[in-house]
Amino acid sequence: MKTIGLIGGMSFESSAVYYRRINEMVRERLGGLASAEVTMHSVNFESIVALQKAGAWDKAAARLGDVALRLQIAGADCVLICTNTMHLIAPEVAANISVPLIHIIDETAKAIHEAGCKRPLLLATRYTMEHGFYTDRMKNLGLDIMVPEANDRTTVHDIIFNELCAGKVLDSSRDNLMAIIERARAKGADSIILGCTEICLILDPDHLPLPGFDTTTIHARAAVDFALESEMVADEKDAA
Ligand code: GLU
Repeated sequence: MKTIGLIGGMSFESSAVYYRRINEMVRERLGGLASAEVTMHSVNFESIVALQKAGAWDKAAARLGDVALRLQIAGADCVLICTNTMHLIAPEVAANISVPLIHIIDETAKAIHEAGCKRPLLLATRYTMEHGFYTDRMKNLGLDIMVPEANDRTTVHDIIFNELCAGKVLDSSRDNLMAIIERARAKGADSIILGCTEICLILDPDHLPLPGFDTTTIHARAAVDFALESEMVADEKDAA
């Protein structure tokens, strides 16, 4: 089994979900008491948020690039940035390591295509919804991605930073998110991207009025596929 490297802490609320999902999937696939080989470097989110607010993406890239290299030196065979937002600087992080960076946007786009959806609504931080790195990449991957209206973008961004990353899950915010989803559905959205790794804490992707794509689970599954690739091939050979 290969070792999965996680850049976590953004926020730790979602890193905990990654850790649990990755281990559950490995146990499910290999049986018994199997669990994943994982190396995690969890950062102090407050310091990353300060760089985000200052628009200091070059400094953030240097910081996370350094963390990725430490994971590689510690034995990681792949690296995941456990947040959608910080994929804004994924190219710089990937350039700092020689092991693969498993990209959350590419894996999510693949899952959406596999489900036959074409016009997903993106629920995410303001950075992810507005900076173009996410929507442009999705468009290049053939998806007609939508983002909420300006007021709704503020609502989603505030729910993420003021509540979910701080460990608060409020019914009133769930209602607000559902209302945003309904407005997008009326405008032709055919699916929902939970495009922030904490949104799965408040919305269940399987209980939405449209198909939901939880980036945390999709990203975790891609890491497990990578880590178990050779084990699965060996199993198939044994079965043949
Ligand atoms: N975890 C969130 C995301 O997936 C937001 C935290 C961050 O700004 O990195 O975008």
